[in-house]
Amino acid sequence: MQNQPPERLRLMHVHAHPDDESSKGAATTAKYVAEGVDVHVVTCTGGERGSVLNPRMDRPDVLENIAEIRRVEMERARDILGVTQDWLGFIDSGWPEGDPKPPLPEGCFALVPVEEAAAPLVKLIREFKPHVVTTYDENGGYPHPDHIQCHNISMHAFRAASDPEQYPEAGPAWQPLKLYYQHGFNRPRTVAIHEALVAAGLESPWAERLEQWKPNPEHDARITTKVPCGEFFATRDQALLAHATQIDPDGHWFAVPLALQQEIWPTEEFELVESLVETTQPEDDLFAGIRGADAPRGTE
Ligand SMILES: [Zn+2]
Repeated sequence: MQNQPPERLRLMHVHAHPDDESSKGAATTAKYVAEGVDVHVVTCTGGERGSVLNPRMDRPDVLENIAEIRRVEMERARDILGVTQDWLGFIDSGWPEGDPKPPLPEGCFALVPVEEAAAPLVKLIREFKPHVVTTYDENGGYPHPDHIQCHNISMHAFRAASDPEQYPEAGPAWQPLKLYYQHGFNRPRTVAIHEALVAAGLESPWAERLEQWKPNPEHDARITTKVPCGEFFATRDQALLAHATQIDPDGHWFAVPLALQQEIWPTEEFELVESLVETTQPEDDLFAGIRGADAPRGTE
């Protein structure tokens, strides 16, 4: 087995809705794609119940065809990011509004039992054979019912995919080597950017948000991995803009000058939660411990 060329590295992101792949970890995605890593995005739902957040797109013809429009937007974003993508085909649960919150709509993603909802994800893991998988933390990153369900099925599928006894109809077992949570929208980053904007005499879109966002050093300390990806922020922004119904080009996403982001916080953050390889923390690479001729490559 001498001089065996290294196998292509593979990264799988599991996301709840179309646009999450562009708003979370997208510069990291673009960086790895540029390096020759195969990146596959799994989108759990069609985003059918997402509100139209761009005033220019808040029109009856858009609302009537929202499911189809979001599919087309996703196709553009995936071309911009250079990823492949699959839909799990579940129905968006929507963001429950009101006090008390209304019950979730019948048949939605968040109401599907985890073992059942994880089945198509186990199949995709066994087909794509990722070395690294990312998902959201136990709070969903933010507590949308689809994000929490995305976490639940990702955890279940990550563990089940390597067990040939589970989901035998979903193909031969595959063991991904690392599992991460996305933590790109974290308080230390938001504070750093806010302070830099204020120091530069610019308006910060985060003043109000930060007043209510209490410091939580324990949560911040969960970050294990900062991936340098500032040169791909522009690609991230293009992918976000492809989701025209979801992203207001005049909104907070684009209120911070790119150069300032690149200078103040040129990384995206992740939390390593499962690893079958040895790595030293803090990390700056999702494939730390996997690269190199002698590294394990996942087992079938
Ligand atoms: Zn989402």
